[in-house]
Amino acid sequence: SEGRMMRPVVATPESCESGGSRIHVFVRLRPMAKKEKETGSRNCVKIVNRKDVYLTEFASETDYLRLKRLRGRHFCFDAAFSDSTTQQEVYATTTAELVEGVLQGRNGSVFCYGATGAGKTYTMLGTVENPGVMVLAIKDLFSKIRQRSYDGNHLVHLSYLEVYNETVRDLLSPGRPLVLREDKQGIVAAGLTQYRAYSTDEVMSLLQQGNQNRTTEPTRANETSSRSHAILQVVAEFRVIQSGNIVNRVGKLSLIDLAGSERALATDQRSQRSIEGANINRSLLALSSCINALVEGKKHIPYRNSKLTQLLKDSLGGPCNTVMIANISPCNLSFGETQNTLHWADRAKEIKTKGCLMNDEALQVPESATDQAKLLLELQKEN
Ligand code: ADP
Ligand code: MG
Repeated sequence: SEGRMMRPVVATPESCESGGSRIHVFVRLRPMAKKEKETGSRNCVKIVNRKDVYLTEFASETDYLRLKRLRGRHFCFDAAFSDSTTQQEVYATTTAELVEGVLQGRNGSVFCYGATGAGKTYTMLGTVENPGVMVLAIKDLFSKIRQRSYDGNHLVHLSYLEVYNETVRDLLSPGRPLVLREDKQGIVAAGLTQYRAYSTDEVMSLLQQGNQNRTTEPTRANETSSRSHAILQVVAEFRVIQSGNIVNRVGKLSLIDLAGSERALATDQRSQRSIEGANINRSLLALSSCINALVEGKKHIPYRNSKLTQLLKDSLGGPCNTVMIANISPCNLSFGETQNTLHWADRAKEIKTKGCLMNDEALQVPESATDQAKLLLELQKEN
């Protein structure tokens, strides 16, 4: 139970152990884009106390004047990051603990979930000036391994792949789709590049290159976002001395930039986009079914339902830590998407409490009228 960063844990250790994975759920709000400001978008999200998220929107201007009514909701998470939160802060709060676990031989996974344009890739990959979770995690791994390796030796291997339309591709060495095989280590993508990294410096450009290889949506000219799930797997191996013996430590960290969670808009059932939509949903759905089954301690975990869950089998099952980062936009035009993302994240949070009675007080924060009124005043000032 140590290691929770933002709030005390009220967990019973037995239920944690029997329950399996503990899912920590975070929300990150991105800043309003210049273009959005210029076109008069309003801010519909407010983050309070580093964990409360208020989603509020006037039903309409006249409705508001007439009825003084807002539509919206209040949510509470392990932590919620406002639009001024640094990459380093996001890394430290969400993922640093998982890196620590990896050094102790426990696998970990971090998922970024949210609509296209909400900030998933910024959070995961970031920019050269502001590197994201992927780069900061590898940097941290290197520096910690160097401190702890008894002989100074270590192996850090990177694999970067995408799942697009239920097809797996190597992002570090693009080519034909990869076949998933089951061997004694579990499910592996046959022929996947295992890139041996020696320092953090080379990682950013490697991953940027990999991201360029991601499949983007061809139907929209200005589309920079991706319809694919990107998975970075970092395997760290080193030796420590434990009770006088030399012990090999291996841990794997999976960092996942999920495809946009918005619904496919296609009306033609046979169009490519609707096929994509169905498959993206299939992977996301399969992911939540697996997490559900794991937390409930079910014998059968339905990994086989999608490529994404097959690939993440050994990161989700077993002694693994799981973190979800829900990315949201502040813009009132994205109200619907934001609401969907927050609902999904909220559900992920509830799943966690079944297996592990943590964070109970977070579920009981009252949604008082005064809170709503205060928020309304603030939003009015800002807009
Ligand atoms: P997604 O991957 O979810 O589709 P992106 O990460 O590409 O979204 O973000 C959309 C745009 O918003 C990009 O131009 C990105 O640089 C910017 N952005 C997202 N999050 C932040 C942030 N926290 N700070 C500054 N810019 C951000
Ligand atoms: Mg993206």
